[in-house]
Amino acid sequence: MKNKVKVVHTVFANVADKYDLMNDAMSGGVHRLWKDYFTQRAKPMPNSKCVDVAGGTGDIAFRLLRQLQRAPNGTGNITVFDINQSMLDVGMNRAQNDKSLDLNKLNWICGNAEALPFENNSFDLYTIAFGIRNCTHVDKVLSEAYRVLKPRGRFMCLEFSKVNGVIKPFYEFYSFQIIPVLGQVLASDYNSYKYLVESIRMFPDQQQFARMISDAGFTDVSYENLSLGICSIHTGVKK
Ligand code: SAM
Repeated sequence: MKNKVKVVHTVFANVADKYDLMNDAMSGGVHRLWKDYFTQRAKPMPNSKCVDVAGGTGDIAFRLLRQLQRAPNGTGNITVFDINQSMLDVGMNRAQNDKSLDLNKLNWICGNAEALPFENNSFDLYTIAFGIRNCTHVDKVLSEAYRVLKPRGRFMCLEFSKVNGVIKPFYEFYSFQIIPVLGQVLASDYNSYKYLVESIRMFPDQQQFARMISDAGFTDVSYENLSLGICSIHTGVKK
């Protein structure tokens, strides 16, 4: 398992510079729509304290922040948390070049989702997008999410999932045959993209993952498939 931590670290250190370009290339831009929908559903209140775990280059955090900024006197803020400083550096750079973002409402912290450096009951909203499948112990990530949320705080996860049978053969062909080649052509990195595809295959299906979220103590657990299950949004509430 130590190996997975190392592999994940190397993958994201390798892809950080090209990460945003590759997301657009691999999904034909659709990842933007999934992220828009996810953050619209998250809908933080103006005074919400939010943490975006495995926040990478800030895609989710920036969308949440734009919602918070609609209430000019709100006291809400967002912590972008990720294990990989290279990804956070790209994100900080993006934030500095984006005049629509209030940088005072953003915090950037490097660390492991399995051992969060936050006190119990700290946040109203915990989001994690396309990150949890990269973590070695998903149960630890979930119990940490539960610990740092305030009572009635919300857990929201956007992750690749198991697709509907009709599109499965096309999806598998695209994932296993095309994506690593795109990785090679656009980012000179076949293996990192092969890893990303394999990590999707290894992740539990929608029902299994929902059970894990309930087992961590969350209530009102539910999920919604996006694009025929290519990814899904899982939600839960701290009791
Ligand atoms: N959430 C961003 C997005 O949707 O664009 C980034 C997703 S990227 C596919 C996955 C991120 O998970 C990477 O930035 C990686 O460094 C981070 N990650 C992997 N394992 C982690 C861990 N144990 N703790 C925190 N972050 C982790």
